[in-house]
Amino acid sequence: MAGLYIHIPLCRSKCIYCDFYSTAVLTRADAVVNGLIAELHHRRAEVGQITTIYIGGGTPSVLSYAQIRSLAEALPTEHCREFTIEANPEDITADTVALWRSLGINRVSMGVQTLSDDILRTLRRRHTAAQALQAIATLQQGGITNISCDVIYGLPGLTTELWANTLHRLLDSGITHLSAYCLTVYEGTMLNRMIERGQLHEADDESEAAQFDLLRQIAVAHGFEHYEIANFARPGFHSRHNSAYWLDDSQWLGIGPSAHSFDGTVRRIDHPDTARWLAELPYPCTIEEETATERLNDFIVAALRTARGLDLAAIAPQDASAILRDAEPYLANGSMTLIDNHLAIKAEHWLIADSFIRRLLR
Ligand code: SF4
Repeated sequence: MAGLYIHIPLCRSKCIYCDFYSTAVLTRADAVVNGLIAELHHRRAEVGQITTIYIGGGTPSVLSYAQIRSLAEALPTEHCREFTIEANPEDITADTVALWRSLGINRVSMGVQTLSDDILRTLRRRHTAAQALQAIATLQQGGITNISCDVIYGLPGLTTELWANTLHRLLDSGITHLSAYCLTVYEGTMLNRMIERGQLHEADDESEAAQFDLLRQIAVAHGFEHYEIANFARPGFHSRHNSAYWLDDSQWLGIGPSAHSFDGTVRRIDHPDTARWLAELPYPCTIEEETATERLNDFIVAALRTARGLDLAAIAPQDASAILRDAEPYLANGSMTLIDNHLAIKAEHWLIADSFIRRLLR
């Protein structure tokens, strides 16, 4: 079983906090779509049967109907159980939803970020809170009810009240999944420059921790399970595609500028620059050399970010013993658990999971 990730490196404009690889040159969209299809045909055999597909970005919903149709019709959907497209609220109409459904898309992941119009404007998002809520209703009316929303906490100006308001309104809207990220200020972003100039102010650690606690409380009260640091779902609606990245035996094929692939042995990364990626089709990727220890550490990091935790039976006995020895203080003070040979960080400590994980790496 394998996942297929398609990266659409296109956005209409740049949000001030974003360091994802994307370009606002939409005139390249035809070339990108044709390139994705060529790369997929060339590399399809790297992984086994594809059971999840995720079209992410960037903003896949900027593609025209003809572009999204030709891309989707080239995808191996025969065994696909979850087919997700990322979208921004301003692109979602009844016609878009009908097209997506006809192409087999059964899940939408939408970038909402906040339901404060003032903060949306500051972030240079292209939609309002009302448009985001209307987009959810339009998806549901059109028959796509498996809906995930992305939100961000720790944003400049995000008070406890605004955060609680965003969470309650979104979770009351009938969505099935929520991805909630703590704001990271990346070098080179406009957000970073605005903070350096004193135009915006970063949230302090205490506010971030309080917003994380509130997030957990409100999500759980709405019947959501907190199954990974940044991810909450109604029972039965965990993201199958993303969950594969956190398991030890999965494969995924990543197509498009900056996409990552793993065939069970070798990691490959597509060139992040669209012009170079187009020039080097149909195999525009490099192999990332990785030692066995690096691979083990990748696995430890990913597994300890989940409620399921690290399956000690899936790693060499000497590594499992060493990790358990290093985890003893956390097990003794109750901040980690060991259940059925799975070592896990308790969810209330996930905001500082990195400090635990650093102690357990090999
Ligand atoms: S946050 Fe999303 S829409 Fe905004 S620039 Fe980044 S990828 Fe594009």
